[in-house]
Amino acid sequence: MEQATQGANAIRAYYEALATGSLLASVCLDCGGHTFPPTGCCEHCGSWKVELQPISGEATLLYATHNITPACHPRFEKIAPYVYGHLRLKEGPVVQAIVLGVEPTPQQLQRLFDRGPLPARAETLRMDDLPVLAFRIIA
Ligand SMILES: [Zn+2]
Repeated sequence: MEQATQGANAIRAYYEALATGSLLASVCLDCGGHTFPPTGCCEHCGSWKVELQPISGEATLLYATHNITPACHPRFEKIAPYVYGHLRLKEGPVVQAIVLGVEPTPQQLQRLFDRGPLPARAETLRMDDLPVLAFRIIA
């Protein structure tokens, strides 16, 4: 039960930080690995000795595509169509997130592919309910 509470607290803290434009990760006190989004335990070694720490929000865009089917949650219908991709955080974890500032067209996605991998920085998309993690290419 204590472990479930630790996980729920990490998720709550993640969204509260994201709402203010900051990112939190779980950092393992045993192996030093970062888990993002944060959870109650380390995704690298399974340890429950983790603490929440702010991370840089700096990342590298590895891959991007766009949605061609309706979004899986109604709140995303407001911003669809959009580009999303896989980004490697400076701290190590790879995350999937919305990519801002890129038109969701085959031509723009091809330009991204030709230029990549590209540096990006985290931003917060403010929604009616929970904030959403997004990244903007900075080069
Ligand atoms: Zn660990």
